[in-house]
Amino acid sequence: MSQEKQTSILLIYTGGTIGMIQNPETGALENFNFDQLLQHVPEIKQFNLDIFAYAFEPPIDSSDIGPESWTKMVEIIYSNYERYDGFVILHGTDTMAFTASALSFMLEGLMKPVILTGSQLPIGALRTDGKENLLTSIEIAAAKHDDGTPVVPEVCIFFHEKLMRGNRTTKVSAENFDAFESNNYPILAHSGIELQYFHERIRPYDANATLVPHYAMNTDIFIFSLFPGIQPDVVRKVLNGKELKGIIFRTFGSGNAPQKQWLVDALTEATKAGKIIVNITQCSTGSVKMRLYETGRQLLASGIISGNDSTVEAAITKLMFLIGKGLSAEEIHDEMKRSIAGEITV
Ligand code: ASP
Repeated sequence: MSQEKQTSILLIYTGGTIGMIQNPETGALENFNFDQLLQHVPEIKQFNLDIFAYAFEPPIDSSDIGPESWTKMVEIIYSNYERYDGFVILHGTDTMAFTASALSFMLEGLMKPVILTGSQLPIGALRTDGKENLLTSIEIAAAKHDDGTPVVPEVCIFFHEKLMRGNRTTKVSAENFDAFESNNYPILAHSGIELQYFHERIRPYDANATLVPHYAMNTDIFIFSLFPGIQPDVVRKVLNGKELKGIIFRTFGSGNAPQKQWLVDALTEATKAGKIIVNITQCSTGSVKMRLYETGRQLLASGIISGNDSTVEAAITKLMFLIGKGLSAEEIHDEMKRSIAGEITV
């Protein structure tokens, strides 16, 4: 008789508050190692799962995480993809939404759960939120339908009762346990007394998909935010930057900008020089609709692209990914309009 294989989870510990301890002399939070972290969660042993761990050495505060660390995470997941049923990444909260967005593009064809989580209080603190976040993330990463397929075959963030699509998520609070929001896409699951999944919102499982890892992320890009009174010289200096290949242009409301000819000219000149400019609203909810007002309409002819209802985190990592792939400006325009991993509503 064949024995059914136990569900196995790989925990990838990158760093962040969840694994920190307060230095009694300076009061600052400093990293402690992964084994110490696990000692604070003995409940892990109660899972009927095979749980293995990979720890970044040294652990990294998420402010120091970028494309190099994303590449490392992709390598770890890719080389362990067949061995594990799901992956949980412990990560600092500050840039977790960037990492989740980046991984959703870099792991093309992913059909297993990759759940990122962390905490606002260290795992050793009495009132820590880290335990609940970690234990529920493991449960989600291990969840399967009756036919053995994973319940959540995508990159997500689980934080404080909410499972969210990773590339729809933004950190919204530096002090509340409820630190993340997915403003333009509903949550995928809610953790109360029961874990309630909203299956119709989760990306469908595709048995024919194969995982294709991508490693090249081009960072010759910039996030540029409008404000009333912005001056031509500054705008031109940014847009004319020699190495600059792409810009996330954060505009007002539904994608609007001051009606200044110099601004439209500067944008047009930049797009003509091959730079990709993506229009993203400064609002936390809603979408860019450049045809709605004259202040948005004027931008259409300048060659800038609508970022739709994308978060800044998803837009910037998508741009890194597309430029990194070596696509032409025209191809990038087409891809920006398309949802690659559920990051925009089309
Ligand atoms: N500075 C920490 C980090 O992002 C904050 C946290 O984990 O909540 O690594």
